[in-house]
Amino acid sequence: MATLDLNSISKSFGTAKVLHDISLAINDKEFVVFVGPSGCGKSTLLRIIAGLEEATSGQIIIGGEDVSAAHPVERGISMVFQSYALYPHLSVYENIAFPLRVQKLEKADMDARVHRAAEVLQLTDKLQLKPGQLSGGQRQRVAIGRSIVRNPKVFLFDEPLSNLDAALRGDMRVELSQLHKSLDATMVYVTHDQIEAMTMADRIVVLNGGRVEQFGTPMELYHHPKTKFVASFIGQPN
Ligand code: ADP
Ligand code: MG
Repeated sequence: MATLDLNSISKSFGTAKVLHDISLAINDKEFVVFVGPSGCGKSTLLRIIAGLEEATSGQIIIGGEDVSAAHPVERGISMVFQSYALYPHLSVYENIAFPLRVQKLEKADMDARVHRAAEVLQLTDKLQLKPGQLSGGQRQRVAIGRSIVRNPKVFLFDEPLSNLDAALRGDMRVELSQLHKSLDATMVYVTHDQIEAMTMADRIVVLNGGRVEQFGTPMELYHHPKTKFVASFIGQPN
């Protein structure tokens, strides 16, 4: 069970308060999209969940366990960033296997994990190639493969498609939705793109100025926006 509960998360940088008392209960295996304008605090919130940034107050609860003080690698969380640096001199196989180098895994176990990730991502016939021989979408999939091999309970994505062109973004949206189904994992996905949010999410969190404006299904937000902001950002004007 990898439920993810955010319990009154607030964050200040010096005197600037960028997250205000955020509480959310995300279900096991749910695909939740955080959407909101640039600067509203999406990345900061994701980094706090991942343990890369410390909240000023509040708790992160994963699978019922308070991990607020846990080291990032102990949280069972994996984060895929907007800019993914692959190692150009290493093969696809070696790039995907890279995070496992630090864990002292048996070769057979490592092999099995890399092949499973490659299968899910349709990279099996690309394992011996170098990143330079891949398309942009395939490179992004290799970056996601590096998350999958760690068997995380929760995947975090910070605008993973924003460096891709529009056509490829459309394809990758479908692929990520399929990935979610085949991995049966809890996923939190950050974007400033309303279309991405509407097409991919089980539920959407609309953030504005570090506050949750609304948390609901795409249809709830579209047909019953709670605030003017949600209406103008996603829903029908009312
Ligand atoms: P988003 O990802 O939604 O674009 P961010 O979470 O990156 O927004 O930023 C939210 C706010 O916090 C912005 O005003 C940003 O300038 C500020 N901020 C983010 N990181 C830092 C930091 N390390 N130091 C000071 N201010 C920061
Ligand atoms: Mg951001």
